[in-house]
Amino acid sequence: MNFAELQPKVVLGIAAHPDDLDFGASGTMARYAGEGASVYYLIVTDGSKGTDDRSLTPAQLIQIRQNEQRAAVQAVGGKDVFFLGYPDGGLEVTMDLKRDIVRVIRQVKPDVVITMDPSLLYVAERGFINHPDHRAASQAALDSVFPLARDHLSFPDLFAQGFEPHKTPTVLLIRLDGNANFSVDITSTIEVKKAALAAHASQIADIEKTFGWVKQLAAEAGGKAGSAYAESFMRIDVN
Ligand SMILES: [Zn+2]
Repeated sequence: MNFAELQPKVVLGIAAHPDDLDFGASGTMARYAGEGASVYYLIVTDGSKGTDDRSLTPAQLIQIRQNEQRAAVQAVGGKDVFFLGYPDGGLEVTMDLKRDIVRVIRQVKPDVVITMDPSLLYVAERGFINHPDHRAASQAALDSVFPLARDHLSFPDLFAQGFEPHKTPTVLLIRLDGNANFSVDITSTIEVKKAALAAHASQIADIEKTFGWVKQLAAEAGGKAGSAYAESFMRIDVN
């Protein structure tokens, strides 16, 4: 499929944990922000399980990870980050979660929503099981884009509070494995991606090592797309 380049005015990333969007799409976020888009992150869980450090309380970890995510959003030139605060590790696709996501969609009115791919369950050859929170957050995000944010009769309580329906034209599902129909050239923002990842110091012990494989994936995606570095997505232009 041959898509034209996107020139979004408002981009909303939706993911389970602080750092998910920075691994998958921070080069793209930085590029669109640099071209004038208002970029927002919506982080669904509180990130309270993501540590091996037994001296940290969950409350301390939540604070650390929110600060790290704020710093990463600043690095990519983003405008703001929303935290929904659902407990890390136990996310379920519920109507309450969808209402919370729809509220943000109707508030910021994105042209492009970027999230993970909820259909990715595992990759056997890499011994990889996709985190259930990733699947739940991205499933709820897709359900919120279509049809819930679009229809004023969905969540009439939100409508009554002034949240007008919003139709998001385009969704980009992050595909780190390169099985994708769309890529964004991030050659100009690959170093910003490193800075965004480096902000997540509690999650990344050795940024050079982590950025090494991140850069390798971006180079492989770029090789397929004719640029030095790229991020890959399944793009859906919503009917
Ligand atoms: Zn995650």
